[in-house]
Amino acid sequence: MTALRIDGKAFAEQVRQEVAEGVSALKASHGVTPGLAVVLVGEDPASQVYVRNKVKQTEACGMRSFHHVLDVDTSRESLMSLIQSLNADPAVHGILVQLPLPAHLDSKDVIEAIDPAKDVDGFHTSNVGQLWTGGNPFVPCTPLGCMKLLKSIEPNIAGKNAVVIGRSNIVGRPMAALLLNESATVTIAHSKTHNLPAVCREADILVAAVGRPQMVKADWIKPGAIVLDVGINRIETEDGKGRLVGDVDFDDVSTVARAITPVPGGPGPMTIACLLANTLEAAKRSVS
Ligand code: NAD
Repeated sequence: MTALRIDGKAFAEQVRQEVAEGVSALKASHGVTPGLAVVLVGEDPASQVYVRNKVKQTEACGMRSFHHVLDVDTSRESLMSLIQSLNADPAVHGILVQLPLPAHLDSKDVIEAIDPAKDVDGFHTSNVGQLWTGGNPFVPCTPLGCMKLLKSIEPNIAGKNAVVIGRSNIVGRPMAALLLNESATVTIAHSKTHNLPAVCREADILVAAVGRPQMVKADWIKPGAIVLDVGINRIETEDGKGRLVGDVDFDDVSTVARAITPVPGGPGPMTIACLLANTLEAAKRSVS
């Protein structure tokens, strides 16, 4: 078997197109332009790249982008004061604080200061609680993107065995909640899980969100399973340039799985597209 390659890049383009259409419609119906504020503290190079992409894509789909770059030694008080002013600003519908923050700032504390109605990352405990208990939360963008990719090839998830490797608040846990909300039978595996390959072999749907290059091999996979690879890892190459790989050994697993996301070009591009979709949703909610 050669697995179907799930094209996250093409799917993300489709989501961005839909968002752009939604932005135009909201402008026409209510005179409102959705606005996303991105706050970056410090000069982490990876974060700078992510933020640049976010700003570019926000503007490309017709939204307003508010970009705040703060010094690495910004005090808690200054950051909180900025968040309060963004909470109160009617032109800002979504607020994103780029993580990780410098060590002297407590990310939990900072996230809790964001108005849950503007928490387009879906990290505030109000949104997390609604995700697990029912309601209409903002859902973290990476798992939201994974669900869209999954449902594009398997609309009926009910009763399927799903295994999520990783239990982070950003990916693993919300991914498990989304699968459970679609009535999958969900297992969350993590660094303390015994016999991980055997656990994974039970999965009709396997999501890897670990941060270990090419850890998942073909003999971990139930034939015909769908595999979503969230991991982004840089490995050394002979030419010294390095390359990005996921948590799944793509070529190996492709021989057994029914469908698989590549890295790069899988859940990665979907993450920013879903951030834009959440920001549009926040703007729509603000006028309803
Ligand atoms: P994290 O470090 O917060 O969590 C990793 C999880 O993996 C932990 O819950 C840990 O228990 C588990 N784990 C570690 N070693 C393990 C092992 N040997 N066996 C089983 N489980 C193990 O990471 P995260 O933020 O959830 O990110 C995971 C990966 O996804 C990283 O590679 C990250 O770069 C990537 N990521 C991608 C996107 C995207 O847009 N595609 C977004 C967020 C994270």
